[in-house]
Amino acid sequence: MIRQSIIKALQKIVGKENLLTQKEDMLTYSYDAAVLNPVIPAAAVIPENTEMLGEIIALCHENRIPVTVRGSGTNLSGGTIPETSGIVLLTSRLNKIIEINEADMYAVVEPGVVTANLAAQVEKMGLFYPPDPGSMAVSTLGGNVAENAGGLRGLKYGVTKDYVMGMRFFDCQGNHIKTGSKTVKCATGYNLTGLMVGSEGTLGILDRIILKLIPAPKARVAMVAVYNTIEQASETVAGIISARILPATLEILDNFTIRAVENFSKAGLPKDAGALLLIEVDGHPALVGEEAEQIRALCLKMGANSIEKAENEAQRDRIWAARRSALSALAQLKPTLILEDATVPRSRIPDMVSAIQGIANTYKIDIGTFGHAGDGNLHPTILTDRRNKEEFKRVEKAIEEIFDTALAMGGTLSGEHGTGLAKAAFLEKEAGVSSILFSRRLRAALDPHNILNPGKITGA
Ligand SMILES: Cc1cc2nc3c(=O)[nH]c(=O)nc-3n(C[C@H](O)[C@H](O)[C@H](O)COP(=O)(O)OP(=O)(O)OC[C@H]3O[C@@H](n4cnc5c(N)ncnc54)[C@H](O)[C@@H]3O)c2cc1C
Repeated sequence: MIRQSIIKALQKIVGKENLLTQKEDMLTYSYDAAVLNPVIPAAAVIPENTEMLGEIIALCHENRIPVTVRGSGTNLSGGTIPETSGIVLLTSRLNKIIEINEADMYAVVEPGVVTANLAAQVEKMGLFYPPDPGSMAVSTLGGNVAENAGGLRGLKYGVTKDYVMGMRFFDCQGNHIKTGSKTVKCATGYNLTGLMVGSEGTLGILDRIILKLIPAPKARVAMVAVYNTIEQASETVAGIISARILPATLEILDNFTIRAVENFSKAGLPKDAGALLLIEVDGHPALVGEEAEQIRALCLKMGANSIEKAENEAQRDRIWAARRSALSALAQLKPTLILEDATVPRSRIPDMVSAIQGIANTYKIDIGTFGHAGDGNLHPTILTDRRNKEEFKRVEKAIEEIFDTALAMGGTLSGEHGTGLAKAAFLEKEAGVSSILFSRRLRAALDPHNILNPGKITGA
């Protein structure tokens, strides 16, 4: 619950139209894309500008009200599940692209800008913002930075952290903090930019982000390689990397996922294939053809039945739209979908793929596997029904075994989806107790009353 006087104070800051307290509205903000219990917040607030944002945070600090900031709520780790006594702060109206600087190749944006909108704007200028989470048509840049989101192009171009040059954010008291710069290099002070990337709304609330842009590649070729078995496909992934070829994108889909995607998207994928590799090479026109040919030869040598190039942009777009629909396609099959993102060193992809199959068999559950195989980031996707308690227990055990397997291979619990609430209890397995205590001390020093997104990352 929240005191009436606070509601009035919030209303004074943002206006009646930007403050929501009705139960129906609160339901909308009680969950995100993770499979966790919803929590109904006390209110949702929609600031229209930076001044309003700062005033809200200061008010919440003064009154010890928990604040959970929310972009589009597409995170898969419970990062926007609020507190019952807290508010949800929506960034949907902080959605301006403030500057795109062609000469110095950077963009300054507000946190609520939708990722695909920035990508489309810079593309018109021959520039490129590479981080492309599968959710980019709806996710926000604030959410991407706060989760250190990856995407399909991570293999060649890296992830969000590689493009954040600087930012401005509010600390828990509403002080405005600036870090980083518009220059290519910046070596002053602590690297607060690095600290804030991936901090999931627990250390501060971003209101400006400076993002690096790069020249757009002049040519690209997309290909689909068809395999009888997922083992052959995953061996090829390791083979391409060890041949020192770096495609922009190297995605794998198992048969379970192919069938779901094809039924959903009708993109023309072969439903009887054991696995597919979706590959894109990009760069200078003189080199792209040669690299595509090298990959074609390697795929055929390593067991592909066929490998087809997209003939034109429309065909290419169909391939990637199909891949981006994987989560939605699988979600049609059963009431509950849990998308994991345990990640291993790339050379261990074949081992991880077969370990996931073994785990699915052991626990007698459905797991579709797809993902960014080229950077070791698989998405074993568990299809279940949360209401079936007996099955859900098996699912929980399977998830823990997936985590343990990835860690035993030298991997990580999350390549891109973050810790949030979903993985907070498992973090110790990866990071160790000293690391968690250090993080808790850091957090307590920066936010002594624990108002910024409580419970996420470091646990209670
Ligand atoms: C279909 C689908 C496909 C996906 N594909 C990918 C993928 O390929 N790669 C990937 O990495 N993720 C993927 N995701 C996960 C998700 O889209 C990303 O985590 C994304 O970055 C979340 O953006 P958002 O705007 O929805 O943020 P939200 O979910 O609203 O918030 C995410 C976190 O950021 C914090 N936050 C938001 N705004 C701010 C701010 N201004 N200041 C401080 N903290 C803030 C929130 O408190 C929360 O902790 C996918 C999700 C779906 C549903």
